Amino acid sequence: MKILIVEDEPKTGDYLKQGLTEAGFVADLARDGWDGLELAKDGHYDLMILDVMLPGLDGWQVLDDVRRSGVETPVLFLTARDQVEDRVKGLELGADDYLVKPFAFAELLARVRTLLRRGRGGLEPTVLKVADLELDLLRRRAIRAGKKIDLTAKEFALLELLLRRQGEVLPRSLIASLVWDMNFDSDTNVIDVAVRRLRAKIDEGFASRLIHTVRGMGYVLDMNEH
Ligand code: CA
Repeated sequence: MKILIVEDEPKTGDYLKQGLTEAGFVADLARDGWDGLELAKDGHYDLMILDVMLPGLDGWQVLDDVRRSGVETPVLFLTARDQVEDRVKGLELGADDYLVKPFAFAELLARVRTLLRRGRGGLEPTVLKVADLELDLLRRRAIRAGKKIDLTAKEFALLELLLRRQGEVLPRSLIASLVWDMNFDSDTNVIDVAVRRLRAKIDEGFASRLIHTVRGMGYVLDMNEH
């Protein structure tokens, strides 16, 4: 899941980017309205977090322009002013939610997850399942055969991707770009190491293997052998 943050205040921007990255998202940060607008238009984001008071273009103008160009990415507004008119204006312009500064990161994260679910039509299941494995996206929990499995944020994101596209062989380059936001470099084995760790947690000690290596192609999560 890719999130664009448009925030000029350096501390807040860095804090948001770091927090969202640690929560397993890929986050880009724009520090003014013009950069934000440019990225929003062609960045294919799943969500935008947009500050209202920005140098250059303000948040209202960015949102207005983004919506006019047909981009339907859900937008969470950050406003320092808890004014009814501001909230109404933001929602009229097509914002999906707003948060008044200062806010707790946990609150922001909860809003982000709600918007991401709603952004996909609200019909997405919040629990992904295959065989006896369950990934609860709301509670951020993985359970196999009734046993809770502790995952890091990256492992969770990797497993979520594999589950969403179960049965499909995912090339390392695709996994690298969707989970790590990096271009695949053949010298690095970060993907293989992460998959090995995830597999040790998900598959070892259980009746069947779910994560398979497809030689020369990538990885697949499937109930059947590959
Ligand atoms: Ca600002």
